[in-house]
Amino acid sequence: MNLTAQTEADQNLSLPTNYSPLQLEAEMREFWIKNDIRNKLELLEKNAKGFLGYVEGPPTLNGIPHIGHARGRIMKDIRYRWKTMEGYYMPFWAGWDCQGLPVELEVEKLLGVRNKRESIEKFGMERFIEECKKAIMRYHKMWLDADSRLGIAINQDKAYWTYKDSYIEREWFYLKRAWDQNLLEEGHYVVAYCPGCQTSLSSAEVGYEGSYKEVEDPSVYFKFKVTGTEKEFFLVWTTMPFTIITDTMLAVQPKAEYVKVKVGEETWIMMRQRVEPVMAELEIKNFQITESMMGKSLEGTAYDYPLKDIIPKQAELETKHPLVHKVIAEDFVDVETATGVVHLSPGNGEDDFWAANRRGVPIFVPFDDEVKFTNDAGIFTGVFARDADMLVVEELRNHNAFVKVKKIKHEYPTCWRSHHKLVWLARKEYFLRTDKINSNVLEAAEKIEYFFDEPKNRFLGFLKEGKPWCISRERIWGTPLPMWTCEKCGNKRLIASKKELVESAQEAFPENFELHKPWVDRITLKCGKCSGTMRREDFVLDTWHNSGASPYARFTDEEFEKFVPTTFLTEGIDQTRGWANSLLLEYVILTGKPVAPYKAFLFQGLTQDAKGRKMSKSLGNVVETSKLLEKSSADLCRFYMMRKCSPVDFMSFDMQELTRRPYQVLSTLYHLSRFFLQNATFDEFDPKKYTLNWALKAGKLQAADLWLMSKLQNKIEEFTKNLDRCEFNTAVAILDDFVIETLSRLYVPMIRKELWTDEPETFERRQTIYALLHHTLKTVTLLFNPITPFLSEALYQKIYRQLETDLPETVNLATWPTPNEKMRNKPLEDDFDILLKVVSISYAARQQGKLKRRWPLAKTIVVAPEKTLQALKCLESLLLEQTNVKAVEYSTSVPDYVGGENWVSNQQDEITVFLSGQRDDKLLGEGIMRDLARRVQALRKEMGFVPTETLESVHIAELDVESIGLLEPYLEEMASLVRARKVYLHSSCSEVEAKWHESELDGKKIRINIH
Ligand SMILES: [Zn+2]
Ligand SMILES: [Zn+2]
Repeated sequence: MNLTAQTEADQNLSLPTNYSPLQLEAEMREFWIKNDIRNKLELLEKNAKGFLGYVEGPPTLNGIPHIGHARGRIMKDIRYRWKTMEGYYMPFWAGWDCQGLPVELEVEKLLGVRNKRESIEKFGMERFIEECKKAIMRYHKMWLDADSRLGIAINQDKAYWTYKDSYIEREWFYLKRAWDQNLLEEGHYVVAYCPGCQTSLSSAEVGYEGSYKEVEDPSVYFKFKVTGTEKEFFLVWTTMPFTIITDTMLAVQPKAEYVKVKVGEETWIMMRQRVEPVMAELEIKNFQITESMMGKSLEGTAYDYPLKDIIPKQAELETKHPLVHKVIAEDFVDVETATGVVHLSPGNGEDDFWAANRRGVPIFVPFDDEVKFTNDAGIFTGVFARDADMLVVEELRNHNAFVKVKKIKHEYPTCWRSHHKLVWLARKEYFLRTDKINSNVLEAAEKIEYFFDEPKNRFLGFLKEGKPWCISRERIWGTPLPMWTCEKCGNKRLIASKKELVESAQEAFPENFELHKPWVDRITLKCGKCSGTMRREDFVLDTWHNSGASPYARFTDEEFEKFVPTTFLTEGIDQTRGWANSLLLEYVILTGKPVAPYKAFLFQGLTQDAKGRKMSKSLGNVVETSKLLEKSSADLCRFYMMRKCSPVDFMSFDMQELTRRPYQVLSTLYHLSRFFLQNATFDEFDPKKYTLNWALKAGKLQAADLWLMSKLQNKIEEFTKNLDRCEFNTAVAILDDFVIETLSRLYVPMIRKELWTDEPETFERRQTIYALLHHTLKTVTLLFNPITPFLSEALYQKIYRQLETDLPETVNLATWPTPNEKMRNKPLEDDFDILLKVVSISYAARQQGKLKRRWPLAKTIVVAPEKTLQALKCLESLLLEQTNVKAVEYSTSVPDYVGGENWVSNQQDEITVFLSGQRDDKLLGEGIMRDLARRVQALRKEMGFVPTETLESVHIAELDVESIGLLEPYLEEMASLVRARKVYLHSSCSEVEAKWHESELDGKKIRINIH
């Protein structure tokens, strides 16, 4: 699938000495733009090995992109880059959620108006719509900036916008499908209504994270007198006294036992098992149960509604239906709370509504749009519902219906936008009867891959509720409900496209027309039944319906066939009730089948601040993506966020942590790559000639090389597997470990010395090492690309494309590495594990004996089982080198002569390592030499010498006479170790005129000069 290079590699790209991610990222961003890389990736569609459908979960354009958004976007980007390198084509195209209440509220604030009515009166709807568009464009700019900084490869040119006519038309098609299947209904239903936003909310919105708040409400016990008695009452309880205004019935549990309780002069009727707790709460000690009956037998009992004189409409209701102000039996009556006698307000409660609806009892809803009582509520006219609570209590008192009132604190749902207490109201709304297709929805949901159980259970649990979806909103900036109703006969017609609307309009179609209020409201149709005028229903659609339409609405028919169902989507866990839900419901309606528009959905955990607190404007702890990335590296941020925890976990984002482990890993990869490049360039390494295959075939690979290759194959396999399972943290940890432990701490130190000669007889060995490093580091660079695209592109351009100019133009077009089975060598890896364990035991022993690692020792004895010793014998030269001893003895039991003060030892499991601590002049001299060599190395690095550069001379001064004597025999070896022509020793620095650098050796001050 590789496209061959279209352009020559840029020879000016060079790799600076230090890893400065910010600078490097700016350079790569420019490289991508200059070479139009993103658009070139679209060309893959022509010869892809497969299509992976994708539709962007559109961010709402009414907030500044923050680090929580970034986390999800990184996961999407990982999938895209990885799958692209595997040869798949994915329409990774942006999308923006543009409409809805949040945008309206912001514009209201901007215009300085308090509500919808005021904004229309003062500014007119056209201006309002204009302002909404301007508002989203301001945020769009910020999102583009954040995406660019973060390295999100999403195609911004092909973005969809949920407010555009072309999108809205296709969204309408879903409604047509619903209408045709009798799933779109108008009706009075009880909906959650926000008095602040003046619109109803969907049941999904009511359940949003953080919408339940602790509020204080009155807890009221009151009594309704049984009709025809003097002193017999039903005892009732409520926390919403205002609903007594709309009371129409009482309900009892038919299967529970009820009793009459004598309290003073009165008799109260309530459920038997609630007598003790309720009396305790009312602090009534003297009471007596006088009679018992089943709930069923109370059915039909009439009661005197006490407020008829001040709410005349209530008296009128009794004449409308025989069940008004009677007791009914209902299974939903809870036997665990209150008195077991429930008052029903069908205009203000869902269960209440259905109980009345089934019996044909009229629904009493005396409220206006601000949830203030209308004239029908008698003396309560004009009072806001929740403000009526205490007035009602007062009136109960006046009408001998009051028992007791207390304040209680409880969790109560508030509006997720404005935090007003929600009120349940029966209103005329439009519903998608998703309850009718719930079995299809659940069947579809069961087939989806969720990767983790917790979000899966949460999502399925929510879907099981299967409530009808209220899709109508009484707002402005949204997709208009395309339903026209005849003024005369009530006939309804659903319009499914702009074309259909143009053809059916009674009046000449205006020129500047768009599918929004107010334009669409100006179009009337002629009724097909009675020739009357049809007007549009004054609703817009729930914004979740708007974004949930994206799989069909964002594509053309042809693209829709190709890319939907999509293969993988990911959004925050809060989208179980949001986009994931609306996508699924709408797609089941669209297709009429139990299928979801996505095969897999990863719900991400939310991101919190460093202390684990929710990020919020009020706490001032929101980390904005663009601001963060002005000063911090995108690669570090991406690496960190993926490495820190599982994608489903709540993540505490701590900026301090970016520069720790993430920096260590990426900078190590950078410097290893640079180390390879410098040495390879010095030796004129040609990757086309000295390939890994060449080394393999010629049998040039040594034990350490073969071990590295075997490890690499495992890492490729494990990394890819973990990406596939969305275990991003585990995946990144695998690369982290490979770079730091395997490559940097183990392999490179094993071969480093071999690269420091330029002897012709070791030329092929050096080329072998280059071939190996080239292969390994390039593979790691490719694997890193989904995680750290800037660093990968930089290394790819500045190293691999310099060495092989015909490579594909960008790292994103390179082929994803796959494990080479022939390179796997499990027994060798096991042997190495033993070796590394012995080395670590040996280090522990040195630490006990205060013997520095750099000091060569004469002898080590390894005591271990035979099998372990066999493994070590195969790797003996590495063992000697790694433990820095001259000889090793193997034994299955501790030899007699070992012990005493000349030996140190350490043991782990079945392995014991002894080290001879005795050092003669030779060992002491070599030890000092190695100590000094290390200091010279550090100085070389500090002064910016490249590793391949040979120093003219090294001078060391202020050494004592004894050290000088010990060192003399090792000067040549030292010169070759530090890559210098000659090393000179001086007892005093005054012997030579030079720029001296201070250093120390075993606590004594010395001076070094190199040049
Ligand atoms: Zn609200
Ligand atoms: Zn009509």
